Amino acid sequence: MKAPIYLDYASTTPLGEAAAEAMRPWLGERFGNPSSVHRRGREAQTAIGRARKQVAAAIGADASEIFFTSGGTESDNWAIWGTALGNRDRGNHIITTAIEHHAVLNPCRWLEKNGFDVTYLPVDGEGFVSPKQVREALTDRTVLISVMTANNEIGTLEPAEEIGRIAREHRICFHTDAVQAVGAIPIDVRSIGADLMSLSGHKLHGPQGIGALYIRTGVRIDPLLRGGAQERGLRAGTENVAAIAGLGAAMAESVHALPERSARVAALRDRLIRGVLENVPGSRLNGPREKRLPGNASFSFENIEGEALLLRLDLAGFCCSSGSACTSGSQEPSHVLEAIGLDREAAGGSLRVTLGAETTEEEIEALLEALPRTVAQLRQLRGI
Ligand code: PLP
Repeated sequence: MKAPIYLDYASTTPLGEAAAEAMRPWLGERFGNPSSVHRRGREAQTAIGRARKQVAAAIGADASEIFFTSGGTESDNWAIWGTALGNRDRGNHIITTAIEHHAVLNPCRWLEKNGFDVTYLPVDGEGFVSPKQVREALTDRTVLISVMTANNEIGTLEPAEEIGRIAREHRICFHTDAVQAVGAIPIDVRSIGADLMSLSGHKLHGPQGIGALYIRTGVRIDPLLRGGAQERGLRAGTENVAAIAGLGAAMAESVHALPERSARVAALRDRLIRGVLENVPGSRLNGPREKRLPGNASFSFENIEGEALLLRLDLAGFCCSSGSACTSGSQEPSHVLEAIGLDREAAGGSLRVTLGAETTEEEIEALLEALPRTVAQLRQLRGI
């Protein structure tokens, strides 16, 4: 077993061999600016074109619909305020959910300060958004619906296809944050009916700091960065060729590996969930038993302080998370756990274990061995 045992794949994943190989030339002998007319430039442009096709093929899009960004956060920001501002003449209302990543929620809050109304739909106890509530929230001013494909904290797979159908019926733009879903489950933009989809390289064994936004042909969106003609004038700036090549290779590899990997990971996840619920008193699973990301297991433990549990597990050699990496370290309980009805105490005692390509049965057994003991020790310290 490799130490430490890494069980935080939803935060980030190690760079895969395919991605590293695709990047290597662009970190050394190859260095052309893709906008240059000479052969060095053309080589770089060719590498970007190839990656664009790989990303498009992995999600059922056309290469002309893929725009490279610096990651999931940038893709989400662009999708939200780019379409809101680009369709300002049609209306000023957005529908999203209470459990989106902050990369969606915070741009929505910014828009609220700038003349937009935002409906944050509640979710049920397992984190599901109701398509019926999406329909009921529509107004004649609605210009965008943004609902994530899969939740990053509790793994819930949202009814994206149904919501896509509703959006299409009403000719409203539908964005889905698929940062956690791409590479974990099969994704096809056309069957989801998405107009915009965010994805991120480092969640699927690509490099950090690269992502993409799928923008369906015909969608009205404001440019993200104004400058040169890169990314068809919508996202100016010299491209990060190495990272783009790495993302393309990682996407191609993830599609290839997905069927076998997701079945294996889901089986380990189910073993973990069963083991924790049976062997740790006062534990509950957050999110649904079915219809959840293959690699996600999220728990809450009574009378436990999540940060203390994380630190103890870290000392014992396990890398896990208390919720999403972006909110851990803050004292605020997770907005996702609150949205599914957990009180502050229960939300504070949460642990997110996320499995991935390299997770082994031995690693899961080792965690199942350590966790009941660690939880008991912490409770003892609190006199419980
Ligand atoms: N959206 C979701 C659902 C995520 O899980 C994350 C990262 O954790 C992001 C967006 C942000 O992606 P990035 O880290 O590439 O900016």
